[in-house]
Amino acid sequence: MKLARPAHDWPKDGKQRQAIQPVICYPPETLPKPDFGRMAALRQSAAKTAQIIVLPRDARCVEVPAGAFFRILCAEGAQVGDLNLWNAKDFSERFYSGKTRALHGMHLSTGDRLWSGFPHMRPMATIFDDTLDWYGFDEFGGSVHDVIGTRCDPYTGRLLSGGDYHYCCHSNLTRALASHSGLDLHAAEKHVHDVLNVFMCTGFTRDTGQYFMKASPVRAGDYLEFFAEIDLLVGLSACPGGDCSAQHSSDEATCHPLHIEIWDPGEALRKQHQIPETNPYPRTHGVGQTK
Ligand SMILES: [Zn+2]
Repeated sequence: MKLARPAHDWPKDGKQRQAIQPVICYPPETLPKPDFGRMAALRQSAAKTAQIIVLPRDARCVEVPAGAFFRILCAEGAQVGDLNLWNAKDFSERFYSGKTRALHGMHLSTGDRLWSGFPHMRPMATIFDDTLDWYGFDEFGGSVHDVIGTRCDPYTGRLLSGGDYHYCCHSNLTRALASHSGLDLHAAEKHVHDVLNVFMCTGFTRDTGQYFMKASPVRAGDYLEFFAEIDLLVGLSACPGGDCSAQHSSDEATCHPLHIEIWDPGEALRKQHQIPETNPYPRTHGVGQTK
């Protein structure tokens, strides 16, 4: 909790210091760009090869090969999903929500990429289509598909309310990864990570800077579609918050299933996709260098 008023007086030049113009931390212009023309050609040849139903307050894991597409579909009613991505062959390479936020902003849409953590740091997936791209930012500063929130979890619940709720996205993803991979529950839990909040509408309050959510504008038929840059294991939880208009971490909210559709252009075309190399930084961290 922040203090009601600052403990220190304003300096004489406080206004001037505040008036300094911001600069973008990571101008994205020099990042490797997705090749949308090539992706569109692959997408045109793709057929739907699987449809996975993620039940409310549960999660599923599914493999998506590099060069294929996966679509997260709001199939029945407003529902938020929590997304994890792993390298299908090496779970230590996983989605890095914080760096993705630093590179692309707090909310993602078409053209943004989901980056893996160090030392791999390469695009794992690229957003190919987003039916909510019209939303932009609302009058509260809210927008959709955030990389702000971490995922609802029973540990924070224990601190805030003292009770245990077992069907938070963290636990749903843990159960799904354990059952898919054969890892035991605690080993699987260590691979669950901060998410992309698919369809969730969030921002920070302007006066206190607090993380807020509001009812998702998603409707049945809306989707967010990704191109798999590398061989992926995709984990998706249908959040117990439903449309996240009021509650999460409980059985209170009305929830709906989400679907994951796999759209595959076939092995021959998939093989034409050039999988991004892992990050070329040599990992010497200055050892053996002279300044
Ligand atoms: Zn959740």
